[in-house]
Amino acid sequence: SSLLEVKNLYKSYGEAAAKVEVLKGIDLCVESGDTIALVGPSGAGKSTLLHIMGTIDRPTSGEVLFDGEPVFALADQPLASFRNRSIGFVFQFHHLLPEFTALENVMMPLLIGGEKRSKVEGRARELLHDVGLAHRVTHRPGELSGGEQQRVAIARALVRQPRLLLADEPTGNLDMKTSHEVHELLYSIQRSTGITLVIVTHNEQLAAGMNRTIRVVDGRIVE
Ligand code: ADP
Ligand code: ADP
Repeated sequence: SSLLEVKNLYKSYGEAAAKVEVLKGIDLCVESGDTIALVGPSGAGKSTLLHIMGTIDRPTSGEVLFDGEPVFALADQPLASFRNRSIGFVFQFHHLLPEFTALENVMMPLLIGGEKRSKVEGRARELLHDVGLAHRVTHRPGELSGGEQQRVAIARALVRQPRLLLADEPTGNLDMKTSHEVHELLYSIQRSTGITLVIVTHNEQLAAGMNRTIRVVDGRIVE
């Protein structure tokens, strides 16, 4: 079966006269190893869909199956542990903790999960090496360029070895050259790990490098 199946998904915000229907019946299958660009106009519902696929947000109705299991049947706590084990996130703004080093930021999800620093430091160093930041492990976010900060965020997203990596405009805040480098990094990580990748992007170059493009317009998939 598919890694992820989205079935007849609806999402609205607000009540009665103030109700806004953002997703209007989304169906989508994501196979293991897929690389998908979610594109479409601003306000179409792409981020909302990505957040629901990542279980950060619950739908109003419809289902999301992960390995055939309906994830929203889980209560908040087990849903959070499922999410922590299975899904990595990269956002437009990196949300790194400014008072911690690159290495500590990458280790943070594991440290919060109760792992010992001595046990996880090796893996975090390896990931920083993989994203091209072996020479920046003790730098803090403020001492890194925008592209380097986003590389740290990517390493952090991968530290728990998720099956699915979700990214929301990961290069929306970077200049063209740096965006291109971050795209190449994401493709290269995908090739070497086979991770399933879903990216919301306005960047046509990034979308062109993915194996599927899904266009969302006004809360529906149009192609
Ligand atoms: P996109 O990512 O395609 O730009 P979004 O999913 O961010 O679209 O937003 C789709 C619509 O949902 C927008 O009209 C936005 O204002 C609305 N929306 C998103 N989140 C909320 C929220 N928490 N409360 C109310 N409306 C929201
Ligand atoms: P925002 O969402 O407001 O743009 P960010 O998510 O980029 O903020 O940053 C969150 C925190 O990380 C901020 O408190 C900021 O101090 C810190 N930070 C982010 N980027 C830098 C940077 N280049 N130099 C120093 N601190 C930074």
